[in-house]
Amino acid sequence: MSLKGKTAVITGSNSGIGLGVAHELARAGADVVINSFTDRDEDHALAASIGKEYGVTARYIQADMSKPDQCRALIEQAGACDILVNNAGIQHVAPIDEFPMEKWDAIIAINLSSAFHTTAVALPMMRKAGWGRVVNIASAHGLTASPFKSAYIAAKHGVVGLSKTTALETAREDITCNAICPGYVLTPLVEAQIPDTAKKYDMTEEEVTQKVILERQPSKEFATVEQIGGTAVFLCSDAAAQITGTTISVDGGWTAL
Ligand code: NAD
Repeated sequence: MSLKGKTAVITGSNSGIGLGVAHELARAGADVVINSFTDRDEDHALAASIGKEYGVTARYIQADMSKPDQCRALIEQAGACDILVNNAGIQHVAPIDEFPMEKWDAIIAINLSSAFHTTAVALPMMRKAGWGRVVNIASAHGLTASPFKSAYIAAKHGVVGLSKTTALETAREDITCNAICPGYVLTPLVEAQIPDTAKKYDMTEEEVTQKVILERQPSKEFATVEQIGGTAVFLCSDAAAQITGTTISVDGGWTAL
């Protein structure tokens, strides 16, 4: 499988799943655009190291995915976007009646609306190129719910819906759109939840990992960023050309329960 000559833009990719997806797409030969809201030397160095490791062009473009104009500018600045991976995301956990309004707005903006804005600019580029793949990183929480994650779950269900509509609007073209629904993947987003949960339930961090976090994941193992990246590469392959408007779960059996 070679993605040589394709340009992939991965939002929120200086860490976690986005970075893992960037590695796997670059390994498959794609030129990659790494993104986050920061503009540090280490962000540019990270892109340079990926470029060197896989012999592809890798650039870092700063853009804040909570801002519609910056979402659109990211794709314009990339100049080409054959593969769009909408991955940027944040989390906040609180009951609905205590959920801070600004956290709701930020989660909807970053986890859902950003995918609408980037897709809107990328589709004309894909049509011009005659080929395109949109891969939205949703979640098992795009298909099921848990308490205290109202904004995240609303956003991820929204991403699944947006993926279906994008697929229908591009169904007659060589463009597909699908959502990957990971279960728990050990990234900074999940690691950050462990110490607070340990305190809350008076458990060790290992107990929290097994009894709270992986409780719903029948495999009792985290999915890895490489597995999510590999799934994204598969969705860009010829074998997946007729897979569109659907979800692929990488969740150790969570949604089979
Ligand atoms: P992470 O915190 O490691 O990565 C999030 C990325 O988004 C980072 O690169 C961060 O810089 C970026 N980001 C945050 N706010 C941004 C903004 N305003 N503008 C641009 N970039 C921004 O988390 P992760 O676990 O790798 O999550 C990546 C995606 O995968 C998210 O959409 C998340 O909801 C989804 N997901 C994660 C898991 C999991 O268990 N880790 C499970 C299912 C889905």
